[in-house]
Amino acid sequence: MFYREKMNKKFCTIIAGPCSISSKKELTNIFKTIYKDINYFRCGIWKARTKIDSFQGIGDKGLIWLRELQQKYNVPVAIEVGTPSHVEKAIKNNIKVLWIGARTTVNPFYVQELCNCLKGTNTEVWIKNPIYPDVNVWFSAIERFKSIKLKKIKLIHRGFFSLNEKKYRNAPMWELLKETKQKFPELDLICDPSHIAGNKKYIAEISKKAISMNLNGLMIETHNYPKKALSDANQQINSKELKELIKTIKLNKL
Ligand code: PEP
Ligand code: MN
Repeated sequence: MFYREKMNKKFCTIIAGPCSISSKKELTNIFKTIYKDINYFRCGIWKARTKIDSFQGIGDKGLIWLRELQQKYNVPVAIEVGTPSHVEKAIKNNIKVLWIGARTTVNPFYVQELCNCLKGTNTEVWIKNPIYPDVNVWFSAIERFKSIKLKKIKLIHRGFFSLNEKKYRNAPMWELLKETKQKFPELDLICDPSHIAGNKKYIAEISKKAISMNLNGLMIETHNYPKKALSDANQQINSKELKELIKTIKLNKL
């Protein structure tokens, strides 16, 4: 077991890392800067982008870099998977955690295919809520993953698309989380303030709300040079801001 998996319980699981990376150097520098502060390192390498000409992620070569860093710094790495081939490659490279993105959770065909591929493995899986606010779609995806008897599952609240939301990129709809906690009390529920906010200036206030609701952790997009990031530049904080946020949480000031 990774040391950091054990130490999180009394506090709050901290998952941080870039939305995506465009080079080994960029990835290594971010990893080296934040690994001591976090329980898990997140990094998207295959990005489900709306536009065909947007950066689609670094792809397969990122797997090797992440595998090396995971081993070197003894911090489990989490990546997003959207297809059975992603799952196979990630497992082959010993990536510890796979998360199911909001655009995948919506589709029972995809979810079932990923379940078929993950059955019998000891991979940890995190399931993000679907893009739109239908908790039954989320709950059904969770049930599918539970039915294949995965030992480690976490849920991630990343907000919901809403035409009524004016301030944030995705509406938090906190009331739906109470339902989620009641339905799956045995599963950790993590908040992803970055994708709720869409702008780094709201990360602290959303984190505060999540902690006040007894959520079990935070997934925070972090980059050494957020402005240079090829995806989600506006919502990423830098490593100094991450350290400050964690310190504030530890001091119970959030
Ligand atoms: C991400 O975590 O970078 C991401 C694309 O998230 P979501 O699936 O929540 O949009
Ligand atoms: Mn992102």
